Amino acid sequence: LTQVSLQDTQIFDLINQEKHRQESGIELIASENFVSKQVMQAMGTVLTNKYAEGLPGKRYYGGCEIVDQIEQLAIDRAKELFGATWVNVQPHSGAQANAAVFLAVLNAGDKILGFDLSHGGHLTHGSAVNFSGKLYQPFFYGVEKETGTINWDKVEETALRERPKLIICGASAYSRDWDYQRLRAIADQVGALLMADIAHPAGLIAKGLLNDPLDHCHVVTTTTHKTLRGPRGGMIMMRHDFENPFGQRTPKGELKMMSALLDMGVFPGIQGGPLEHVIAAKAVAYHEALSDEYAQYVAQVQKNAKVMAKAFVEKGYQIISGGTDNHLMLIDLRSKNLTGKIAENTLIKADITINKNMVPFDDKSPFVTSGMRVGTAAITTRGMKENDMLQIVEYIDAVLMNHENDSKIGSVKKEINKWMNDFPLYR
Ligand code: PLP
Repeated sequence: LTQVSLQDTQIFDLINQEKHRQESGIELIASENFVSKQVMQAMGTVLTNKYAEGLPGKRYYGGCEIVDQIEQLAIDRAKELFGATWVNVQPHSGAQANAAVFLAVLNAGDKILGFDLSHGGHLTHGSAVNFSGKLYQPFFYGVEKETGTINWDKVEETALRERPKLIICGASAYSRDWDYQRLRAIADQVGALLMADIAHPAGLIAKGLLNDPLDHCHVVTTTTHKTLRGPRGGMIMMRHDFENPFGQRTPKGELKMMSALLDMGVFPGIQGGPLEHVIAAKAVAYHEALSDEYAQYVAQVQKNAKVMAKAFVEKGYQIISGGTDNHLMLIDLRSKNLTGKIAENTLIKADITINKNMVPFDDKSPFVTSGMRVGTAAITTRGMKENDMLQIVEYIDAVLMNHENDSKIGSVKKEINKWMNDFPLYR
């Protein structure tokens, strides 16, 4: 092949630099994780060469006999993992999964009710800058100022007032569990569909460490690359299929089942050819997630987050809602006279990666913010345990309390780079 004479050293050098960055620092971005070598291998295969529009057994291209088996395995493993009866593994990302559901069940201009972005929700749940806020009419619920938690009575109040067609639960920066049963009762009262976006805690939900949304929510979407520890991607699931309540019919006049509508929402609705190399990697990740080892992993993720939250509180940091049920926490830095921007920019100098984040009722812009979000999914994959969480909080506090002292930060960075050798990643 001609590639041999066209070695792209520029890109591969940069990939190596990124590998080194990932290995030598402390990764606390709550939405990130480290996939296994097998998951990565599956992605870098000849499957990327294949077009396979359609579904296993029903494709618009020839030569799909083998990718059909791969995609079917991904579907079957996902069903087993989540106790689902219908799954679509084709969404290229979490945002695509949500877009496919919206397209399938809503008409332009319909009302939707989601968790406010500035309180921890996701862009795709109705933000004005996102398709979800531009094509539909969004309404929001948030957290209580005093408790930092969602008040279900208030969600009900808003739902009764606005009568949305779709209620969305799930978040990017909410550390507490969700009352799906209550939300379903609210949805039923106003005739809305209920969708849970479990992008963040999916792995913990799969292993029974958090409430199970699949019994109560009509549709569940997720990303596959956060706590689930698969390749970057999305997925849509249902445990109970049902007849589409909004009356869309096929050209032949049949009333569609929701599963068929959702499949059509993905393709031809918002996507063309599925990424079969990524779907193969999803199948590998689901196989891993079905193991006892993965059950121990997510249990450790949750334990680590609890220990970390407690250690932050003991050092005087203010955690929204006071703690965590899942893998992440949102820290209000105002009591430390810091902004999220300063925290992010200072911690990175010590090779600690976090992201600045708006906190509920924030008085600063999204580019500055008053908070930071941290999560334990990635560091737990590296083998870190409770004691290591205490050490990380020590390091973070040392850097933040000396954020103008570059020599102090430099010495913390050196210690961290050395320490991370104890938690090998891809060697
Ligand atoms: N939904 C939630 C709750 C998320 O947190 C995210 C990503 O951060 C997404 C959807 C979107 O996923 P992706 O970045 O894969 O489009």
